Amino acid sequence: MADIEELKARVCRVIDAHREEIIALGEDIRRHPELGFKEHRTAAIVSEHMQRLGIPHQTGIAITGVKGLLAGRSARATVAYMGELDSVLVRDHPDADPETGAAHACGHNAQIANLIALCYGLVESGVMAALDGNVALIAAPAEEYVEIAYRLGLRREGQIEFLGGKAEMLRLGALDDVDISMMTHQSSAKEEGVLSVGGPSNGCIIKFIRYGGVAAHAGGSPHQGINALKAAMLGLQAIDANRETFQDDDHIRVHPIITKGGELVNVVPADVRIETYVRGANVDAMLAAAQKVDRCLKAGAMAMGAQVEITTVPGVLPRIVPDALMGVYRRNAVALVGEEGWWTPVFGAGSTDMGDVCHVMPAIEAQARGASGTGHGSDYAICDPDLAYITPAKVAAMTLVDLLADGAAEARRVIASYEAPMTRESYLAFMRGLAREETWSAREAE
Ligand SMILES: [Zn+2]
Ligand SMILES: [Zn+2]
Repeated sequence: MADIEELKARVCRVIDAHREEIIALGEDIRRHPELGFKEHRTAAIVSEHMQRLGIPHQTGIAITGVKGLLAGRSARATVAYMGELDSVLVRDHPDADPETGAAHACGHNAQIANLIALCYGLVESGVMAALDGNVALIAAPAEEYVEIAYRLGLRREGQIEFLGGKAEMLRLGALDDVDISMMTHQSSAKEEGVLSVGGPSNGCIIKFIRYGGVAAHAGGSPHQGINALKAAMLGLQAIDANRETFQDDDHIRVHPIITKGGELVNVVPADVRIETYVRGANVDAMLAAAQKVDRCLKAGAMAMGAQVEITTVPGVLPRIVPDALMGVYRRNAVALVGEEGWWTPVFGAGSTDMGDVCHVMPAIEAQARGASGTGHGSDYAICDPDLAYITPAKVAAMTLVDLLADGAAEARRVIASYEAPMTRESYLAFMRGLAREETWSAREAE
């Protein structure tokens, strides 16, 4: 039996040997941001490297996803390492694509560099021959929830069902053979420490709202109209009035925007549009808050005698942290960066589709402080190329060795100790159950 520490050192040496190339690759992707379900160039880069390394892989999963598989000497577990292909949209970011506004202001370019560094490390070290499980190497599309109208179009064309990449991968069965998942996200938070895992986080439900009224001359005959903007404002006020009923531990966030407030100032608004997320730290709290939001929106319509159409789209599920898996990762992170380099995970009020993966298997979203500035902001930048592009690949490789060496005993322990809240089937049923279109009219109620 090869010594576990020696196996880890071997993979890390290979990753170090490719340092310059990996950093250049991460920087190249940074300069060529692509939005979700359109990441064709980035996906091609992943595929080219897998080709070069002789890693059998599929492409075009959920439009742009790539999945490679490295077999161990036996297959007692399969652990996936993921990188997200997409960028976010920040038009005034210095690296933004002038045409699309896409910019890597969330550091996903580093994730693809991590993924490819890991491919090199695992293949060229020959370490797989000493492991008792497989490693799936996955480039996942469309983590950022952007360009919703475009994605609804893809859905109408039958190209996707869900609007997020990992939900699509789950739907397509791309994770059916995977027992444990890992990935690393860049963090620009300023606290002490350089590595951790993402703490629990909010999930979200997405709502598109249209208030329908009756147009009339705003000065001459408002009494003949029904003001959809007033109805919308009352709906929003009702949501605000309910905020005191949200419980602290549930971390509910409802943050609507009005995307259309009327047509002309001298016409009573008859078509007013709102979009909102309803976020929460657990599924029950999310559902309860979403129900309150619907009730409030209807109250606005009722007060004005208007109509409201509420389209609900499933977003992502809250992130859960599996202790056993975090423990294995932490041990390896500390071996690399010391106790002082580790920070304690904290709750995150944002949302990620890694939450969906956590609901069906033990999964962690590690965090590395290789970035600076504001996430999704114009000042976001990779400030430490090693922490961004190289270190996460090494910790991932070391963690994989721990999980899959010696009969994959650690992986089996991680799997056995995690009670996934859902199966793939119940997850899909839940997500499909969330999607609905409802019309409520005060005119009919009269
Ligand atoms: Zn982001
Ligand atoms: Zn991100």
